[in-house]
Amino acid sequence: MRLYNIKDYNEQVDFAEAIQRGLGSNKGLFFPVELPHFNSREIDELLNMDFITRSAHILSTYINEDTEEIPFQQIVKCVKNAFTFSIPLKYLSHNMAILELFHGPTLSFKDFGIRLMAQILMAIAQKPYNKPFIILTATSGDTGAAVAHAFYGIDSIKIIILYPKNKISVLQEKMFCTLGKNISTLSVDGQFDICQSLVKEAFDDKEINKKFTINSANSINISRLLAQICYYFEAVAQIPPVLRDKLVISVPSGNFGNLTAGLLAQSLGLPIKRFIAATNVNDTVPRFLKDGKWNPYPTISTLSNAMDVSQPNNWPRIEELFSRKNWSFSTLAYGSVDDETTRHTLYEMKKEINYISEPHTAIAYRLLRDQIQPGEYGIVIGTAHPAKFQNVVETILDTHIILPPTLQSRSKLPILSKDMKADYGIFRDIILQYSIDREGR
Ligand SMILES: *Cc1c(COP(=O)(O)O)cnc(C)c1O
Repeated sequence: MRLYNIKDYNEQVDFAEAIQRGLGSNKGLFFPVELPHFNSREIDELLNMDFITRSAHILSTYINEDTEEIPFQQIVKCVKNAFTFSIPLKYLSHNMAILELFHGPTLSFKDFGIRLMAQILMAIAQKPYNKPFIILTATSGDTGAAVAHAFYGIDSIKIIILYPKNKISVLQEKMFCTLGKNISTLSVDGQFDICQSLVKEAFDDKEINKKFTINSANSINISRLLAQICYYFEAVAQIPPVLRDKLVISVPSGNFGNLTAGLLAQSLGLPIKRFIAATNVNDTVPRFLKDGKWNPYPTISTLSNAMDVSQPNNWPRIEELFSRKNWSFSTLAYGSVDDETTRHTLYEMKKEINYISEPHTAIAYRLLRDQIQPGEYGIVIGTAHPAKFQNVVETILDTHIILPPTLQSRSKLPILSKDMKADYGIFRDIILQYSIDREGR
């Protein structure tokens, strides 16, 4: 698979390099040179396959489009190891269903992209690394948990996760700071932005780059997007065939990786009529789609905190895709929902359709229910399990949420994080320490 840097078409890399580097030079995103397309017979064949086989075909079509990089059987193995949980499509009403993407080990859809990324990194790492591989991630919750669980026990890859002390929920902290082994978690005295800037500084550090291959596993990594294409196919496979071509899919969006994957699925030929880009009050994209002006405001904290993004890092890919395919932005529906309406919607979902949701998914549901047209069939992308937002949901709905067993048992384990002052010198020493551990073995 050849990919180019959106900021410089002449900078081209293969898939292995794109996944390991994450970003191109000048912080440019990688984008596929070839955009594969299936005809309707091939789409039907794919939709008749089981999820694992179908996903391996889709990934192989991208990865091995022009040069064979990862043999098909190896892709099958990666997919099997990554996608180990169910993806139920549940009917909500006569014209709406929800695709529940939160039955993975850390209860959010981020398990799909990050678990596949971990598997592919291992597959390509069988050519021995010349340098130790480290993943440095700053998190405000969901990403850190998914990264920690996806890479747990993979001895050849060291994971260091930074998070703001006392700024994430106890349950979130228990989920990824109780693992040990190759996962180190640092509880930083400061805000999320400080964690992120410490990580960025490490990426620019010459000595660290000389000693290690470093990667951030963040949502701009192309492997995460490819993984997410697979569940859009699964959604279409699960609905009755007469509803194909009538589908409107509403996607809760922050950095817009999820929607990018949906649009890539559509560009492959998957029959989806249209998408709704659903945001909270951090509405840079809805405002852009309305008046064509890109004008980010400062980020506002909301109930749907994983969508508190005002400069979505995957948006340039969506622009690139629309321009390559000659699609018009007028075909992309949009909307934003404030916290009060989100609360109201959570309440309404429980009362009217007997469904307990959480703030991110509720936003997508709300916009779908407001915008769906006669003759259309709507699918909401369910991005997180309500238990992950237990406090908020229990307060709004005045109900008790039962924790899934994995979370329940994890909630009893001790936190293994080290406290760290927000100081780059200290952080740097912790990273460099790793080479000593490794050489000492
Ligand atoms: C990350 C996240 C989102 C936003 O997804 P993007 O791909 O960044 O648009 C939505 N909901 C939940 C629960 C998330 O964790």
